[in-house]
Amino acid sequence: AKTINKIAAGEVVESPKSVVKELTENAIDANAGSVTIEIKEGGISYIRITDNGTGIPKEQVKEAFLRHATSKMSQIEDLEHIFTLGFRGEALASIAAVAQVEMLTKTRDEETGTRIVIHAGEIQELEDAACREGTSITVRNLFYNVPARRKFLKKPATESGYVSDLVNKIALGHPEVAIHYINNGNTVLHTAGNNDPKTAVFYVYGKDAANSMLPISYRKGEYAVSGLIGKPEFCRANRNYENLFINGRFIKNPVVSAAVEDAYKTKLLIGKFPVFVLNLAVEPAQVDVNVHPAKLEVRFKNDDEVYEFFYNAVAKALQETVL
Ligand code: ADP
Ligand code: MG
Repeated sequence: AKTINKIAAGEVVESPKSVVKELTENAIDANAGSVTIEIKEGGISYIRITDNGTGIPKEQVKEAFLRHATSKMSQIEDLEHIFTLGFRGEALASIAAVAQVEMLTKTRDEETGTRIVIHAGEIQELEDAACREGTSITVRNLFYNVPARRKFLKKPATESGYVSDLVNKIALGHPEVAIHYINNGNTVLHTAGNNDPKTAVFYVYGKDAANSMLPISYRKGEYAVSGLIGKPEFCRANRNYENLFINGRFIKNPVVSAAVEDAYKTKLLIGKFPVFVLNLAVEPAQVDVNVHPAKLEVRFKNDDEVYEFFYNAVAKALQETVL
């Protein structure tokens, strides 16, 4: 079982970035209003995610680290109705298989919290511990027991860049959560968590960007999109500023990119790309999130419908505000 965990870990855990992604998504799924993300040396030697969410009840702590342990899905049909970010129950097991993990967690109803330490999939300690409501999980020395994978990690500065990009996306996609990001002891980002997308853009991209965004809100049939799109003159030279979320999950999708870009086409300079933060709310049955285990890619049941929807939504928003 240990080997299986190690191999399977490769699917979910590729880098410090994927660890931060999984753990932060867990925090958000646990209804945290604030999440602190700390990394050192690009996350290779140290990652700590602290949230003020629900915590894990003492009797479930050990189980949470078992493969396919998820509290978020009870029946297979639930796969069609996934609204939480996580659902596979793989992340904690995978991360603990390839690092040194320590978790402190406490629910509101408990008097004392729980501390668990797991190294390379083996429980080292499991005990009562005094701690605050919520969860704090520390991941040290990623891939210390898998040299072949450790070798493929990039330099700390590069890994840290990937983590920073990810944290920015999370902050943009979840303006309702105060995200505090500390890299090598320095606060890099601290969002307000006031549920205002424009404020989130202000913290992540700066004042000019925040002042260059137009609100968008459009609904048709089973789809509803809301968020912000950049004024055409505030365009960029690459797609890095295209932020798409589906039910709060950051994803990349060529159909949506094309639809939005086409709606801008007559207004943008050649070779320039729009800036947007769009959140699509849709019945989970309309999307297949199983395309990639890291869940960055999804496939829609009906691409043409999705294209038309986004094209119309953006064209309308541009028309209303540019006129
Ligand atoms: P998944 O998120 O797919 O359910 P994980 O392996 O990421 O699987 O987490 C396993 C379980 O541990 C979750 O279903 C949840 O019940 C619990 N859990 C993990 N992280 C947290 C957290 N930060 N706060 C509360 N519960 C958590
Ligand atoms: Mg998870």
